[in-house]
Amino acid sequence: MPPETVVFFHAHPDDEAIFTGGTIALLAQKGVRVVVVFATTGEMGEIRGDLETGETLAERRARESRVAADILGVAHSVFLGYRDSGLPGDPANDAPESFAAVEAEAAADHLAGVLEPEAPAAIVVYDAGGIYGHPDHIHVHRVGVRAAEILGIPTIYQATVDREYLHFVETHLVGEAAGSPNAVVPMPTVGVPTVFVTTTVDVRSVLDRKRRAIAAHSSQVPETSSAMSLSAAAFAGVYGYEWYVREGPGGAHRGGLKPFVRLYRRAIRHVTLRARNGRASGTRARGIGAMQPVVQVV
Ligand SMILES: [Zn+2]
Repeated sequence: MPPETVVFFHAHPDDEAIFTGGTIALLAQKGVRVVVVFATTGEMGEIRGDLETGETLAERRARESRVAADILGVAHSVFLGYRDSGLPGDPANDAPESFAAVEAEAAADHLAGVLEPEAPAAIVVYDAGGIYGHPDHIHVHRVGVRAAEILGIPTIYQATVDREYLHFVETHLVGEAAGSPNAVVPMPTVGVPTVFVTTTVDVRSVLDRKRRAIAAHSSQVPETSSAMSLSAAAFAGVYGYEWYVREGPGGAHRGGLKPFVRLYRRAIRHVTLRARNGRASGTRARGIGAMQPVVQVV
């Protein structure tokens, strides 16, 4: 029986590692064939690291994505070839070849054509707000959901972040993106509230690979970035979980996506545990109450 295939549809190289790198590594480890599709090469990104002489940002980011793919165990990567639309207000938003300006139906047909031979059991897109409002991320949601309809893919996982959980740990890169002077939406509207998260994947067992995959995107996340400067414990707090809103059955074709686990937890518990272990300043959260995390295969 051929391995089950799960497709991760992302806007730009680095999103796959930051938001879903641990899930990719866990799925690949379980023998699932992981295909990553990038809408763009992220050529409108800020250059935060150094480029090689003569290298364009698009070339650099494509190269970084190949390194990250090898680290995470991605079986196949595809670039759809649209242009990065840049942040809202950028003139690139309206350039005809910009991803966000391409009609969703046309882009969904394109994506469906690429994915049809893969017969994916599930597709991963972003939540409807694009996690933090970037126009390309919002379009990934629309285009990915429509492609799933066209192909009859039974299960969609919307990658997101748990907005409430992130209040209790060090700053996530998504918070910086949302909090930058070019911010699209204020931090409180990043991701979704805890109650909307259907699936939290504990990726701490593959965290070293996730960290190396994020570091491979050094043009965007250099060694001096907040993420790379965190202690191991703080990094695990921020990047040790990945969050999804699932639509459709949890077990797609052929017996289910076992590594997608449901983990009921309260961020509050994290804080009180840290305080009990003496590693936090003694901040003691009250009011919500702690609950033992329950890990469940869905
Ligand atoms: Zn992005």
